[in-house]
Amino acid sequence: MKIETKHLPSEGISLTFEVGAREFSVLNEMMDNAECAFDHPIQIQVEAAPEHDLIKVKGTLSTIVGLSCSRCLADFQEPLRRRFTLRFSNAIASDIGPAGADEIELSAEQMDLMPFDGEVIDLREAIQEQVILALPFKPLCKEDCKGLCPRCGADLNAAPCQCEVDTKTNPFAELKGRHWPAR
Ligand SMILES: [Zn+2]
Ligand SMILES: [Zn+2]
Repeated sequence: MKIETKHLPSEGISLTFEVGAREFSVLNEMMDNAECAFDHPIQIQVEAAPEHDLIKVKGTLSTIVGLSCSRCLADFQEPLRRRFTLRFSNAIASDIGPAGADEIELSAEQMDLMPFDGEVIDLREAIQEQVILALPFKPLCKEDCKGLCPRCGADLNAAPCQCEVDTKTNPFAELKGRHWPAR
């Protein structure tokens, strides 16, 4: 997942990578904690081109992730796809100490820049971050997953449980005891 920047043509280059999730330290940890599963490699396609004194990297990543539904706890697989645009600079020192911090004032634009040393950009950290950003915050096996009954724990996708029937017999049960604002 490296880009040689030395002879990068102005029209840019196109690169593709196929990487197993185990090669990313944080994803590896997440898999060990059963937060997600990657049975398929991560496909990465990038276009890298010089942009003024920066290197612009535009890309797409895609894979299939295994997740647990946040409502019913069922395991399911979901395609993951994310587009990203990153800008790399070898002009910002990645090791600015407390002394140097006063002298270098970073503009808002520079804050978004990712540093690299020398003539090679290693995309590993940036790609890992993009995969994590692509993961759903609250995974759902399907948009209208009914989840588990909070009372008896039954999977309400399979069948309504007895508790649900009880509260649904009277459609006005929910309204009982509710105070409407006075007009
Ligand atoms: Zn579910
Ligand atoms: Zn129930």
